[in-house]
Amino acid sequence: MNALMKKIVAGAAMAALALGLVACGGSQAPATSASTGGAAQATYKIATDTTFAPFEFAESDGKYVGIDIELLAAVAEDQGFTYTLEPLGFDAALQSVQAGQSDGVIAGMSITEERKGVFDFSDSYYDSTVCCAAKAGGDVKSLDDLKGKNVAVKNGTMSADWAASMANQYGFTTTTFDTSDVMYQDVEAGNSAACFEDTPVMGYAISTGNVKLQIVAEADSTGAFATPYGFAVKKGSNPELLQKFNDGLKNVKQSGKYDEIINKYVSRS
Ligand code: GLN
Repeated sequence: MNALMKKIVAGAAMAALALGLVACGGSQAPATSASTGGAAQATYKIATDTTFAPFEFAESDGKYVGIDIELLAAVAEDQGFTYTLEPLGFDAALQSVQAGQSDGVIAGMSITEERKGVFDFSDSYYDSTVCCAAKAGGDVKSLDDLKGKNVAVKNGTMSADWAASMANQYGFTTTTFDTSDVMYQDVEAGNSAACFEDTPVMGYAISTGNVKLQIVAEADSTGAFATPYGFAVKKGSNPELLQKFNDGLKNVKQSGKYDEIINKYVSRS
């Protein structure tokens, strides 16, 4: 059992508290509990990460963009539902859904067997794996260079699980961060010897020139840490929303809208 499962149980009350604050600050969301999709048109609450480009990130004016954001918008339009976006952070987003405060989560969330115990996932919409990155041009060039060092991981993520699975073997310790951007900064500042992240996200950050890191190791692309992303709801709680997501995903793939969104953020050569 990883940290996520324990925290889902232990952190439900905390998530509810945190969400109370978010709901008060929001302008569009009605201050009710998560909708159940009754006869009337439901406005779903969809939780997401705060900084996970190119899947979700805020532009300078604070508006959220990215593959997840645009895919959700396209699916909602196709299926005729409305929603409020809740950028809570990755771990908080998962806890919010588990606590019944949010109806669903789209956050570059890996579909894993363990998570299927507490979430229902949509069909996958993007393939991903995890990697380790260190300072560009620095001394750390492989996992072997991490002996006796401390690395940065992100709370509740698959890449943190990958790091944990190798910590003894390679002799490193870990520090946990809530957001990807602060985690990268810790490596750039030289406090952490490396960080662990999803490969498409790390690759995007490096390719935009925003982050001066380089990928030094990648998990086996056919192994347990290579997983596709899915939209998720709390297990057994929202089959109707899940169905809408799957139906909408199928339609936007057929219409070409899906490719349009992916190509906007991921350059293909
Ligand atoms: N794909 C990773 C996971 O599900 C990380 C997601 C994220 O950080 N937003 O654990």
